[in-house]
Amino acid sequence: MFYCNATQKNLRRMTRLIYQCALIVVKGNRFLSENKLLQELGWNTFAQRTSYLSITMFAKIKLNKNAKIIHEHFFQDLPANIGRNIGKLKILFSKKNKFYNSFYLKMIRLWNTLPLQIRLEQNYTDFIKHMHQKYNIHEYKHINLYHYDTEIDNIYLKIRHQCSKLNADQYKLHFVPDPKCTQCGKNKQETNHHYFMDCNKYDQQRKLLKQNLTNITKEFKKYNNRQLVQLILGHKNDKIDNMAYKNAYQFIKLFIVTTGRFV
Ligand SMILES: [Zn+2]
Repeated sequence: MFYCNATQKNLRRMTRLIYQCALIVVKGNRFLSENKLLQELGWNTFAQRTSYLSITMFAKIKLNKNAKIIHEHFFQDLPANIGRNIGKLKILFSKKNKFYNSFYLKMIRLWNTLPLQIRLEQNYTDFIKHMHQKYNIHEYKHINLYHYDTEIDNIYLKIRHQCSKLNADQYKLHFVPDPKCTQCGKNKQETNHHYFMDCNKYDQQRKLLKQNLTNITKEFKKYNNRQLVQLILGHKNDKIDNMAYKNAYQFIKLFIVTTGRFV
């Protein structure tokens, strides 16, 4: 019984393919961050999917959900370690690489990295619930929060992924020789923070943006400039519900349109 015949090279290729599909969905370019994009869309990488499916199958065998004969065969001589290693399985060594990567040995190694609460779980349905939380399956961070239809959506997507037309981003991609802001006389780098919170040219629009954001929920009133930029870049706080975020993004897009920086 071997764990997923695919080589690392092929796994990487499959992940690349998922990334290409994601680019088509959001109409993006290849400068978008792979991890961030998949997280934003709520997609799992191929490696995440295989490890999730394998570990749940392993748990099924371990918790004696499958045929008893398999359970007895797999777990007959595994003494559980004591102390902080409680619930971990004994690692078996193999001389050959082929067996080192086999399902059984690989799953034991993966099992030992799970949190204590999950390792000690005796109920299979509860185990799945914990795993969903760990692997973020069905509980996606940004699901349905963003749109990818209009040009402004596309500009905002690039701002989140730090590959927009702002000079600091362009400098990072080796497109311009100087990261400094040319819109004001402050002689500072034109980063996302400078564009949204600092640049003199957009003072009026910024005032409106802050007003609008603070009108949405009380939580946003507590935010300082740095936290507001984090919100704009897509970081989420558990205290705030999705509706507030959705409203916030409308006003952020309004700011982007009215400043006219990306025309
Ligand atoms: Zn400026």
